Amino acid sequence: MGAQTLEDWEKMRDDLTFRNQAFIDGKYTDAASGETFECVSPIDGRVLTQVAACDVEDVNRAVGAARKVFDAGSWSEESPAVRKKVLLKLAQLILGNADELALLETLDMGKPISLAKTVDMTGVANSFQWYGEAIDKIYDEIAPTDKSGLGLITREPLGVVGAVVPWNFPLLMAAWKIAPMLAAGNSVVLKPAEQSPLTAIRLAELAIEAGLPEGVLNVLPGFGETAGQAIGRHMDVDAISFTGSTEVGKYFLKYAGDSNMKVVSLECGGKSPNIVFGDAPNLDAAAQQAGMSIFFNSGQVCVASSRLLVQEDIKDEFLEKVKAVGQFMQPNNPLDPSTMMGSMVDKTQTERVLGYIEAGEKEGAKVSLGGKQVRQNSGGEYIEPTIFDNVKNDMKIAQEEIFGPVLSTLTFKDPEEAVKIANDSIYGLQACLWTNDLTKAHKIARKLRAGTVNINNTNGGGNVMPFGGYKQSGIGRDGSLHALEKYTQLKSTYIHLG
Ligand code: NAP
Ligand code: MG
Repeated sequence: MGAQTLEDWEKMRDDLTFRNQAFIDGKYTDAASGETFECVSPIDGRVLTQVAACDVEDVNRAVGAARKVFDAGSWSEESPAVRKKVLLKLAQLILGNADELALLETLDMGKPISLAKTVDMTGVANSFQWYGEAIDKIYDEIAPTDKSGLGLITREPLGVVGAVVPWNFPLLMAAWKIAPMLAAGNSVVLKPAEQSPLTAIRLAELAIEAGLPEGVLNVLPGFGETAGQAIGRHMDVDAISFTGSTEVGKYFLKYAGDSNMKVVSLECGGKSPNIVFGDAPNLDAAAQQAGMSIFFNSGQVCVASSRLLVQEDIKDEFLEKVKAVGQFMQPNNPLDPSTMMGSMVDKTQTERVLGYIEAGEKEGAKVSLGGKQVRQNSGGEYIEPTIFDNVKNDMKIAQEEIFGPVLSTLTFKDPEEAVKIANDSIYGLQACLWTNDLTKAHKIARKLRAGTVNINNTNGGGNVMPFGGYKQSGIGRDGSLHALEKYTQLKSTYIHLG
């Protein structure tokens, strides 16, 4: 049955032991330097454990182990049917340990326990299952040469690939990357964010239990500037897949240019517009999703619909409906299963978000809901759902990614103006629009410069569709079979037949 109540989760927390070391070549180990860092829970400020702080030497060890097993072929040359079995077993183990993994995630970064279980861990298991099931059903190609030859076009794993991931969906973002990486036969070096290393560290031993050969998956907790940079600059890492901020994404392009030209794929930030026309099929549903999209996970979501573009004549009516969603989503103890909104990831993020709220007010936008830090006596980091009205698109709060529960409301007159405002951003991860008019919807969808366009919803089709950004939201796509393109390369083998 598993944990059900706040008391169950608190008891489970009190009995929990934390894995806190690096995982290299199939074994838990301290950082070579012996250094550690504090892992603090944003729920109440308590120190959970001390975690190994990896650096260059640890990256060298992990890449060495990953290369050795790749060259030995025990995973890279294993049949797709066997790789499938291991990934399916891993998916099962994740579901079997979902309570523990969800609890680690919640304690580590403050998301509500119910969502950690249903959204994150279900999604993680699904990723391994999906790519496991897919990998023995993909065929290579024969080229249309003339009869004097035979042209084989085959896909091969890249080799040693690095994954550097953020803290907002710690294990889910890792799984989106390592599931297709492993399915394709690569060896992996994963660096979780410093704010949320616990689930990735635990995943490593589940992978071994599932039958993954030692050295194929290595996990290196540590800081971006040290461990992250060392992976980015390593001469024997063939590719890097990064999810995080646009600023750090650009560093990885530089690291690749300075080192070995490794393949770089980036999933970066967003400032997603959500365009609501007066002829939306259901304004209540539109308002419900507009609110959920920005307040879910305390707004720490790359696709969060952070810019609400409402057609002028329905703005007041619509905003009242969105405010009701915000009022309902008040932050509470993340370990309480009824909690819809938890904490921010840490103090730094709280201060960043409060700074943006102040900037919005200074620039003349009007706070029409929330705006304050709450639950301070918990010792944790909580911010109210916040809605700004009277926002202009050139304001800081409409241009920069806040990564918090802060919604900017703007208005437009007609489709042309809506598209102009929507595209006036350095980002292009997602855009949503609500209308009953199919022709209008298709015409606008074509003009929106975003990797995903959602019509009459804000959630998209899930992991069966490619996910990633236009413009400075990134390079490459996670999700779907297209993700495999990032972790394989094509080989052309031409046989002369005469
Ligand atoms: P971040 O600061 O860019 O960090 C992401 C990862 O990069 C972390 O593991 C981080 O390590 C590492 N890193 C930081 N500085 C580095 C450096 N100089 N060299 C190498 N690695 C470095 O992002 P975040 O604050 O964790 O997450 C929030 C951002 O992620 C937002 O901008 C959000 O939009 C984006 N995001 C995008 C997607 C997407 O799919 N497009 C999904 C989720 C989040 P440390 O933790 O040690 O700093
Ligand atoms: Mg960070």
